[in-house]
Amino acid sequence: VNSPSAVIAPSPRLECEVLVVGSGAGGATTAALLAEAGVDVLIAEEGPWVDQGEVVPFSLAQMDRQYRSGGVTVALGLPSIAYTEGRCAGGGTEVNSGLYFRPPIDVVEQWRTSHRIDGLDLDELSSIADEVESAINVSTVPGAPTPASEMMRRGAAALHWKHAEIPRWMIYPPGGDAITGKRQSMTRTYLPRAFAAGARMVVGCRVDHLASRENRVTHAVVTYDDGRLGAIICKHVFVCGGAIQSPALLQRSGLRRHIGGNLAVHPTVKLSARFADEINVPDDVPVHQVKEFAPDLSFGGSASHPGLVALALSDNWAGFRDAVEQWRRISVYYAAITSEGRGRVQALPGLRDPLVTYRLTARDRHLLGSGLGRLALLMLEAGAEEVYPSYRGAPIVRSRADLATMQGTFAATKASVMTVHLCSTVPLGEHRDRCGADSFGRVHGTRNVHVNDASLLPSAPGVNPQATVMAFAIRNARHFLDRRAAAANGRTVA
Ligand SMILES: Cc1cc2nc3c(=O)[nH]c(=O)nc-3n(C[C@H](O)[C@H](O)[C@H](O)COP(=O)(O)OP(=O)(O)OC[C@H]3O[C@@H](n4cnc5c(N)ncnc54)[C@H](O)[C@@H]3O)c2cc1C
Repeated sequence: VNSPSAVIAPSPRLECEVLVVGSGAGGATTAALLAEAGVDVLIAEEGPWVDQGEVVPFSLAQMDRQYRSGGVTVALGLPSIAYTEGRCAGGGTEVNSGLYFRPPIDVVEQWRTSHRIDGLDLDELSSIADEVESAINVSTVPGAPTPASEMMRRGAAALHWKHAEIPRWMIYPPGGDAITGKRQSMTRTYLPRAFAAGARMVVGCRVDHLASRENRVTHAVVTYDDGRLGAIICKHVFVCGGAIQSPALLQRSGLRRHIGGNLAVHPTVKLSARFADEINVPDDVPVHQVKEFAPDLSFGGSASHPGLVALALSDNWAGFRDAVEQWRRISVYYAAITSEGRGRVQALPGLRDPLVTYRLTARDRHLLGSGLGRLALLMLEAGAEEVYPSYRGAPIVRSRADLATMQGTFAATKASVMTVHLCSTVPLGEHRDRCGADSFGRVHGTRNVHVNDASLLPSAPGVNPQATVMAFAIRNARHFLDRRAAAANGRTVA
């Protein structure tokens, strides 16, 4: 593994001014901003350093190396919702699709009032988004989209439904096409910036709990991959483990008030669509999304590596198994909803992983069904010969007439519901009846424990969340630096 020299060896005792737990969208940006301001930063990352190119994107091998528990993680409920988290240097940004949406200003404005977020300046957030877009090179694909993406566009255009190509963080070589981009994930962007400014990183290092005295964390107790224990002495800690692991770590550290109880996700249901021509792109995802029914419903394309096509067909394996032979003509698509339901993350004594539960409302379950029906219609309009919806007992859909049968047999409890967008378990703001952290992410009731990741967003934003996570993380890191500078000069900052 060619990890950078800033990745140091595990040690029983390490010291730093700021410990950043996790190196994903929130952690990497936090580390870069603080290190560039002269802070002595140490990043503790539970997963390994995996250079881009070591594993094929969206493959089962990638799930094995870079996902938590090989991608097999579930929020229990009726139905249960499968979720996935990146677990590697760069976190979710290494495994995700890189589809980029600026922070949705109407949603952020609503958060500001519902959660009483002080000092939330929308112009500041917008200028941070400009900065991020340049740092991670947000761009559209050169030339034609992939065939699987084109099918999404074609179906939406035929139905006159609002659709667009969503830009991604990507650098395309001169003369390159849709699949030649180099992903600008955190190991390529903010982590190298942090290292250049002096930050250190230790990988294979899970933070088990934070030890405190008088509401102030003194050190983190960690377990390295080889089973040895260690301590990291720090003055401040930024917990950036993502919306499942951050609340679990805080709970293991005795911090529980409004921590872990407000899990918000974008639940999705899927189908596979078979076309006359070869459309499958195993190592990339479509870039077109359909927003005709947004924010309630959005449609897009999923990873369609042959193993994932088989997985999508497996809900009705007896009826759909023959299709797997033709995987080159098949791509997988999803319908995502904004959910009114909420979930909970609970760290349990003696168990390594937290218990995660999620309750969809009746409206959510209904919306999943109507979303899947409309997505099937879109695929037919795009020219699909056969559509295989991912729920137990689903029919093969070949015509509009079959859509009625499909709607009649769908139930969310029979579907493979999943999500990759996890948020809101430590909402920020001054509303003490619902917020786990203050307006800039410091955990209420603590003096030096900050959260700076997707956990802070008061709800799932209705669009792909990485840009919003990064914008809030940068805003909060700057506020921390202002306070630190003021304290050094004997002043205080609100
Ligand atoms: C498959 C997939 C596709 C996605 N596609 C998109 C997309 O196209 N566009 C988009 O905007 N968003 C997408 N997302 C979501 C996006 O990746 C996340 O919203 C974002 O990465 C969240 O950032 P974060 O900092 O909260 O956590 P993460 O990026 O998940 O990082 C958390 C890191 O903390 C580490 N960690 C956790 N606990 C500990 C601990 N106790 N000790 C040490 N380290 C720890 C983890 O190993 C992980 O590396 C996708 C996510 C997935 C999984």
